Amino acid sequence: MEDMRPEIDTPITWMHNKEKPFDSLKAEIEKCDACLLCKGAKNRVVGEGNLNAAVVFVGEAPGRSEDETGRPFVGSAGKLLDKLFSNASLKRGDVFISNIVKCRPPNNRKPKKDEIEACSSHLEKLLGLIRPKVVAPMGNSSLEYFYEKYGLEGVVIGDAHGKPVKILASWGEAILFPLYHPAAAIYNRKLLGKLRVDMASLTELIK
Ligand code: URA
Repeated sequence: MEDMRPEIDTPITWMHNKEKPFDSLKAEIEKCDACLLCKGAKNRVVGEGNLNAAVVFVGEAPGRSEDETGRPFVGSAGKLLDKLFSNASLKRGDVFISNIVKCRPPNNRKPKKDEIEACSSHLEKLLGLIRPKVVAPMGNSSLEYFYEKYGLEGVVIGDAHGKPVKILASWGEAILFPLYHPAAAIYNRKLLGKLRVDMASLTELIK
C-alpha cells in the first residue's frame, strides 16, 4: 500500500536550511553601518559554531584577537572558555558563540547603550535562526541586555550566575543561563571555580 505519511524535515535538511539564511545574515552584518564601531573594526565578528546548537553563548564584544581573525573568543578569554568547555565535555562545534556587538570597541571599552541597541537586530536574527534551548549571557553587559529585554532588570552577574530563568523568546520557550565572563576568571581562581560549576550545570540542562 502507498505510504501516505507526510514527509518530515530531517535534521540534515534543517542544517542545510539554516546555512543559507546564516550566510545572508553574515553578509548583512558585513555591510552594517548602524553605529560607529564599524569604522575602527578590521573584521566583524558574527559568531561561529553549530547552527543547531542547544546553547548559544553570548559575550560582550570582540577584542583585539577577535578583530584580527573575525572569530569569537580566540584570545586569552577564549582559551579559558575552551578549557571550561573541555572540562564540561562540550566542544566548540556543538555550541554557538557570539557577542552582543559584532565590532570591536576602541581600546576594548565596554559597548555603549546605543551601540548595543544598533547591533541588537543582528543578535536577535541569529538567535531566531538557531532557536537554542539555552542562551548563556557571559558577563554583565550581555546579562544586562537580556535582562532588560525580558523585564528582569536589577540583577548583577554575581547574583544571577548559574541560575536558570525561563523566558518566552521569539522562537518559543527558552532558558537564560547567566555565566561569569571568562576574562573575569583569568586571574581570579574563586570565579574560575564558580564558572566551572556553572558550566557543568549548563551541560546538564542541555542533555
Ligand atoms: N570577550 C568577549 O566578550 N568576546 C570575545 O569574542 C572575546 C573576548
